[in-house]
Amino acid sequence: MMLVSNDGSGGHLPVHGREVLIIGGGIAAVEALMALADLGDRRLRLQVVAGHPSFLLRPQILGEPWGGPPLRIDLERLCRAFGARFVSGTVTGVDADARQVRTAGGERLDYERLLLAPGAQPALAYAATRTLGFGALPKTLATGTSGSVAIVVPAGTSWTLPAYELALLTAGAGRDVRVITGETVPLEVFGPGTHAATRALLDRHRVLVETGGAPEPGSSVTDLADTVISLPLLNGPALAGLPLDGRGYVQVDAHMAVPGTDDVYAAGDATNGAVKQGGLAAQQADTAAAEIVRSCAGNTPRVPYTPVLRGKLTTPGGQELYLRRALDGLDAGRADDRPLWQPSSVVCAWRVARWLSYRRGELGHYTLGHVAQALSA
Ligand SMILES: Cc1cc2nc3c(=O)[nH]c(=O)nc-3n(C[C@H](O)[C@H](O)[C@H](O)COP(=O)(O)OP(=O)(O)OC[C@H]3O[C@@H](n4cnc5c(N)ncnc54)[C@H](O)[C@@H]3O)c2cc1C
Repeated sequence: MMLVSNDGSGGHLPVHGREVLIIGGGIAAVEALMALADLGDRRLRLQVVAGHPSFLLRPQILGEPWGGPPLRIDLERLCRAFGARFVSGTVTGVDADARQVRTAGGERLDYERLLLAPGAQPALAYAATRTLGFGALPKTLATGTSGSVAIVVPAGTSWTLPAYELALLTAGAGRDVRVITGETVPLEVFGPGTHAATRALLDRHRVLVETGGAPEPGSSVTDLADTVISLPLLNGPALAGLPLDGRGYVQVDAHMAVPGTDDVYAAGDATNGAVKQGGLAAQQADTAAAEIVRSCAGNTPRVPYTPVLRGKLTTPGGQELYLRRALDGLDAGRADDRPLWQPSSVVCAWRVARWLSYRRGELGHYTLGHVAQALSA
């Protein structure tokens, strides 16, 4: 059959039904699911296996002391809306020759195409501290007016923005707060074109930043402040049967294919990309999904992964700073207080962000016809 792609690319994709298995239920997996349902014109047989029953936007963890718990979307319902089957299970390994994955429960799931998106494995960097993602943040960040707060970014952290976002929120509640980081400037990854704007925002909100080094993981940090919060250490998912780098991350090529395997792709924090970030995870997922559809259909155009980092800082007063940098080694980065992408969501995942906006009633219609049908069904 012929499909006119409705992502604005104008591409024509003839698609045959295939069994596609997605591992994971985070931003990369969900973006890939939407892309495969869309680009595959619902002709692919989609299955999602994830260790947790719900999809969570991790940045919402930061707002918990100031609001309600982060939004969790039931994965089984979400999968059903996009014509996919949901399987609850933790994958332990891949048998690429047999085209099967194994779960901790002893199940074997067949695939014709496999997309790995199990994310990274977070770990505690320091004992006796709060670590983002390990339990709720203390409510006293929002209510307490006395006592100092230190937010520590352990060495090797590639995505440091959550530390600054949490610092801004905490400073807004009247606490003395400082970020301790190995960066040479705050949010260094966004490039020299953004550094002055970031520094000005942090200064305006009295967020102190100690650059140049955080304490060694494993050391005691309790004396840094009355409340110490750390970002987690991350490691790869270390799934058996795949080419991994030294820290357990899955190796991928420029099209998100896993070298040395047939029809296995990977996206998101599980891969050996330099920066572990939701927007990049979604871009990788879009590339992998297009590649899977191409591999099912034959002669369709490739969509190379050309990473663009996008991040948003929000102050307690509602002021926003948008940061954007193409990771091509040339772009110096750009900062603006007006949105640099739309919808101007915290995680810039093209399909997921539009779907969430639509769900909240902020978008009158969804530009992807299949998704709109799925939602109204
Ligand atoms: C506090 C905080 C704030 C952040 N802020 C931003 C931000 O502003 N912008 C941004 O772009 N990014 C942000 N990030 C980073 C972003 O959340 C991650 O990069 C993103 O979630 C990675 O997506 P992923 O799908 O690759 O992995 P994950 O979101 O980690 O999802 C992995 C999924 O796979 C499942 N899984 C794991 N192992 C297995 C297994 N073995 N078998 C089956 N299922 C498995 C998990 O249950 C989960 O559903 C933030 C992160 C944090 C913690």
